[in-house]
Amino acid sequence: MILLDGKKVSQARREALKPRIQAFESKVGRPPHLVVVLVGQNLASQVYVRNKIKSCEALGIASSKIELPETISQNDLDSKVRELNADPKVDGILVQLPLPKGLSEESILEILSPDKDVDGFTYQAMGHLWGGKPFVAPCTPAGVMSILDFYQIKPAGMKAVVVGRSNIVGKPMAHLLMTADATVTICHSRTKDLASYTREADLVVVAAGRKHLLGREDFKQGAVVIDVGMHGSGEGGGVTGDVRVSELDGWVKAATPVPGGVGPMTITTLLENTVTLAEKRLKL
Ligand code: NAD
Repeated sequence: MILLDGKKVSQARREALKPRIQAFESKVGRPPHLVVVLVGQNLASQVYVRNKIKSCEALGIASSKIELPETISQNDLDSKVRELNADPKVDGILVQLPLPKGLSEESILEILSPDKDVDGFTYQAMGHLWGGKPFVAPCTPAGVMSILDFYQIKPAGMKAVVVGRSNIVGKPMAHLLMTADATVTICHSRTKDLASYTREADLVVVAAGRKHLLGREDFKQGAVVIDVGMHGSGEGGGVTGDVRVSELDGWVKAATPVPGGVGPMTITTLLENTVTLAEKRLKL
């Protein structure tokens, strides 16, 4: 079984991004700039945001973190996002989700400028993705496509099953695979006899958020298995996925490990999306 190494893919793609960042800086007089908005004290969100900022710094992308109290009103939060939309020195805006109770993610998705939406979560970005002209695609599914591309796994003609239908992973994943000419089935929590679908698939992307949901008996021999699931903080208990990857050796053709598979690609794609939107907005 080939272990699809997200760290390796990540490294290669980050290297490829460097000349674009340098070219942007020499033309514009500053590097691309990502602003991350963090509302409240969610511990996991704080870790994610720290990693995103660190990754920007390591690559030469400028980044700022705006921390807002969880007591902020919807109006004040919306105003902050509008202010960032209008700031010519801001190329990408990421509002870290989930927001604290009482604040509306929907409102942010309506207000955030699609030209700066590095996550590809706004309705305009989704519509463009669906229409075949993406601004940028959501980071996790786009990162999966980069892994497939790096290992020259071509979805064209494959029977692909995506387990999960969330707006940020499952749905855009299915769309990207369909655009790459796979024949795609989406399964979800109300799917009856999930294994009857996954066992038929050449490619399975699992994003159910259910620890160790699928194992060897759920996949066809020679299939490609991508595990998006992420369980545990990595501090002490380790991180595991939706797939029992240790069972797959000698059975499937290739699979992503957790950690070290899809996870690193999510941040790498965020960096790529920041540069892409910066170039696009300034017409470079
Ligand atoms: P979500 O909870 O929004 O969606 C889960 C989806 O899985 C739902 O559509 C649901 O219908 C489906 N589902 C749940 N149980 C199922 C079952 N038993 N059988 C079939 N389908 C089932 O979650 P999400 O935001 O899409 O994330 C999914 C997983 O991916 C989570 O573990 C999350 O932590 C992880 N994730 C990882 C990264 C990364 O960078 N590695 C990024 C985003 C999400």
